[in-house]
Amino acid sequence: MSADTPGSGNEPRRPEVRAQVALMSGYHSPQLDVRIRLNTNEAPVSPPEQFLRRVADAVATLDWKRYPDRAASELRSRIAILESDPAEHPLEAANVFAANGSNEVLQTISLAYGGARRTALTFEPTYALHAHISKICGATVIEAERREDFTLDASMVVSTIEQIRPSICFLCSPNNPTGMVDADDVIIGALAAIEKVGGLLVVDEAYGQFAPRSALRLVDEARSLVVTRTFSKTWSMAAARLGYAIGPTWLIDELDKVVLPYHLDAAKQAVGVIALDYVEEMRERVRTLVGERERVAGAIERLDIDQWPSAANFILFRPRNHSGDEVWQTLVDHSVLVRNCASWPRLENCLRVTLGTAAENDEFLAALATAVGSAPDRSVSVDG
Ligand code: PMP
Repeated sequence: MSADTPGSGNEPRRPEVRAQVALMSGYHSPQLDVRIRLNTNEAPVSPPEQFLRRVADAVATLDWKRYPDRAASELRSRIAILESDPAEHPLEAANVFAANGSNEVLQTISLAYGGARRTALTFEPTYALHAHISKICGATVIEAERREDFTLDASMVVSTIEQIRPSICFLCSPNNPTGMVDADDVIIGALAAIEKVGGLLVVDEAYGQFAPRSALRLVDEARSLVVTRTFSKTWSMAAARLGYAIGPTWLIDELDKVVLPYHLDAAKQAVGVIALDYVEEMRERVRTLVGERERVAGAIERLDIDQWPSAANFILFRPRNHSGDEVWQTLVDHSVLVRNCASWPRLENCLRVTLGTAAENDEFLAALATAVGSAPDRSVSVDG
């Protein structure tokens, strides 16, 4: 019998993947070839023309043979200015960590403060990547539950933190997929509790600019709080993969140690800096989407559908008399793709729609009305 005869015990063996990875299915957002894609919470319109021209120039004149600025100094100072209130809450580049999308920011936080023999705490249903990234980094994840209506109760959050004593507690405000924003007492209570047990509070504000409240002003050298944001939604730049954290300087220092050298390429740094010259245009796009959110929510209200109050650029809803799968399929038949959450825990029959342009939203509403068996309400349409 030769060395690699089957059954000899000497045949080459595949390497064993780590246990945390073996148990997982990857995180995917299924795509279909449809006309109207309202399933991944991206912005419906591109950034300004002038931005695109300046990006082209910047890419053409970049010093491609050199490594980028490892500290991404200019980008970080500009983000600090963006998120500062100079009188009340000044921030510096040292308060900012930037990476390839806020997912990479969350991963870097987990690598620095989570990991083996540590616990991460989430309140479900919430953004799946908080648990997913924590597990990949080797942490034990405890998934606590939101209330029946998906709000969080401050005293429950505090007692859960006191009991679990996590290294990292994740909040997501506005929360994906519910769209709801956490009350101030939830954030403040969670922060006080996590500090008592020596952990870190991460508030994921990927949709923060669409919301009436933010935890950003609570960031302080004396507090164990980090807030994450992204260029993927409000900035219409999901393709660029750029996100950031605002936190105390001692925490940002640790993230800088953990992340790979030169992780943020020179083109992305340049693109981020150029984008920040178009803050007013970004705010205008956010105002438009918030207006569309209220209009679409008003139209859904008139259908046989329950929905949750959204402070983000998407709405979670549940048809009362039809299955989520059935409604999702009818929407696809009308070439409208929304996120089917019907099989997710606690989200039986739920769908999540990202706000698109007014015309896209009208098509969605017309298809939705067909799906649940009522005529679309045209009276609320802004531009038909
Ligand atoms: N946090 C939340 C709550 C999200 O919904 C998303 C995107 N789906 C992200 C973070 C990650 O966004 P990105 O990596 O594009 O910045």
